[in-house]
Amino acid sequence: MNSKSRGTVALFGGTFDPVHNGHIQSAIELNKRLLLDELRFLPCHRPVHRAKPGCNSEQRLAMVTLAVESEFSDSASANGKDAQVTTVRVDDREMQRDGKSYSIETIEEVRKEIGDEVSLIWVMGTDSFAGFDQWYRWQDFLALAHIVVIKRPDSFLPTEGAIAELIETSSAKSCDELKQCSAGLVWFESLKPFPISATAIRHDIAAGKTVASHNRLGEHVPAVVLNYIEEHQLYR
Ligand code: ATP
Repeated sequence: MNSKSRGTVALFGGTFDPVHNGHIQSAIELNKRLLLDELRFLPCHRPVHRAKPGCNSEQRLAMVTLAVESEFSDSASANGKDAQVTTVRVDDREMQRDGKSYSIETIEEVRKEIGDEVSLIWVMGTDSFAGFDQWYRWQDFLALAHIVVIKRPDSFLPTEGAIAELIETSSAKSCDELKQCSAGLVWFESLKPFPISATAIRHDIAAGKTVASHNRLGEHVPAVVLNYIEEHQLYR
């Protein structure tokens, strides 16, 4: 199959506690750069490498769903928010699975569903990739998917050890290579930086800040998500 007909599916996994404009803008920019056929936000049910989230899985899923509907619907595109070249949707499969949410198990499931030819991309920020060698069965990822790493401000990658070796042996030379094979490469994407983190948002809300008192919240979090947080009194 040639690269034109291969198809490209990207999985953007995260805790999304809550989803914010850093995630949304990264997805928009990534679409523009990689011309994806599909991008799926994939909220994690039981994160393995971090403290228990500030709200439950159903609430995190609800916020991601609201954000994707408002930012990526046809009407959002028609309003000029973004030229939508891809299908953006929420994949809630990890919510349906008991036990810890291991990304490799998700990738195995998706790979079975989409077949061997489709280029499958696991997306993560530099902060996540820096600790990737601690992930369950991390050595199995590249047999099934590519990894695209979004550079994040203030995040640094190890210059020696397993991650440095992985970069050395598996880096793609251009993003076009991601479409020439269905898995096996690591690609670093330098998007416009979006210095936003869910941690800072949770802290702002816990400190009693509101959109009215603190512009940053309104800039960093989609309005539908802020409304949901307010309505459910999250992160107080
Ligand atoms: P927290 O502050 O709670 O750790 P977070 O803001 O990093 O949360 P996550 O849900 O943990 O959000 O992130 C999901 C994925 O998105 C991770 O791979 C992370 O590196 C990436 N990511 C998060 N924020 C940004 C951002 N502002 N720009 C680019 N990538 C981001």
